[in-house]
Amino acid sequence: MILPVFAYGHPVLRKVAEAIGPQYPELKQLIADMWETMYKSSGVGLAAPQIGRPIRLFVIDTEQIVEGFDEEDKREYPNEKPIKSVFINAQIEALDGELWAYNEGCLSIPKIREDIRRHQSVTLSYLDEQFQPQIQTFSGITARVILHEYDHIEGKLFIDHISPLKRRLIKKKLDDISAGKVRTEYRMSFSK
Ligand SMILES: [Zn+2]
Repeated sequence: MILPVFAYGHPVLRKVAEAIGPQYPELKQLIADMWETMYKSSGVGLAAPQIGRPIRLFVIDTEQIVEGFDEEDKREYPNEKPIKSVFINAQIEALDGELWAYNEGCLSIPKIREDIRRHQSVTLSYLDEQFQPQIQTFSGITARVILHEYDHIEGKLFIDHISPLKRRLIKKKLDDISAGKVRTEYRMSFSK
């Protein structure tokens, strides 16, 4: 089932999300719905708070980005492989490498894109879909997408990383989004 994406301004996007256990009701269906919602809205990642659930769960599929690489991107990220994965109760164990900028967007904040600086690599402990503990280091685009989704389960948004000046410049657009004055190809849920 395709779920509405909760828009900027909704308080659920600002909660620090809670860990879940394997008994979480209808988790399998929820994950299936998150994949469907993400693909329908052409996203490369989706976190549970974005569909109104303040739990530590996100999904990513970077194929769309990696398949769209031009020659320069291929030179820049020679080892980048598309990853499709479910992350439950993720915790950052380490952040490494230089900060680098990449133009990010977010399904909850439509029509706004900003260059965001993040670390080159992240070591993450998490549970996979079978609740098996994993610890893995990700880099490049994969680390980028993971760090964006990880922000969501910490109640943060990519626009929290931009300068106060840039934030002022997009204030009107943000106000419009939270008031429901934005058109998207996918269904959204607004707080007002
Ligand atoms: Zn997002």
